Amino acid sequence: MERGSARGRVRRGFRRWFRPLLLVVATAFFVALYQSWIRIPANIAPWGDVELDRPPGWLARMQINSLASDSAACIAALDRSQLRYRRTPVRPIRNGCGLEAAVRPLQSHIRYNRPFDISCGMMAALYWYEAELQRLAQQHLGTSIARIDQLGTYACRNVNSADTGRRSQHATANAIDIAGFRLADGRTISILKDWGRETPQGHFLADARDEACRFFNVVLSPNYNQLHANHFHLDLGGFRMCR
Ligand SMILES: [Zn+2]
Repeated sequence: MERGSARGRVRRGFRRWFRPLLLVVATAFFVALYQSWIRIPANIAPWGDVELDRPPGWLARMQINSLASDSAACIAALDRSQLRYRRTPVRPIRNGCGLEAAVRPLQSHIRYNRPFDISCGMMAALYWYEAELQRLAQQHLGTSIARIDQLGTYACRNVNSADTGRRSQHATANAIDIAGFRLADGRTISILKDWGRETPQGHFLADARDEACRFFNVVLSPNYNQLHANHFHLDLGGFRMCR
């Protein structure tokens, strides 16, 4: 009885002080943040600039999507990074095809087999993705990637090159098709030949697909359909699919 009522007093006291205490702690936290007494690393908080040379955090795809919808912020993010690129002359969108706020990478983390123009948002996502690919190559293959073999970014066509239907993300260079990789030690990795195999190359590709889903809205691998047997399709369209 004695103990019970003492415990009851503690509980009532806790209830009375809990909310004011929480308010004081929360206020102190926000004041400390505002005054920069505590700093949150780049790319972790939902506010602040995206820093493409710093590791991506759990909000990476959300941050990429906000860059994709704000070309000035996107170009500014590219400018703050080590990426060397040039702006692609605008080709106004007609009949669902065109290039607006597109860029051509000149020097990125990894070289490509041939030059390409791509939307700014896609370039930001690729830049982060390339750094993750290098990490995966070291982990699975003990070497780095010297070259990415891509099949194309811009093509004025419909989804799956069909005669009717909606425009592909390729029609605005908001997509890239990646067919394989050349490693620094001369080995090559082909999505057509190495996908689904129990080899270091196969494991690298499986992880590369999973990692792509952190940065791109749509990721289609050979698992999706026969049309993708020889490449990964990556895009920043309005859908979400990771196959
Ligand atoms: Zn594609």
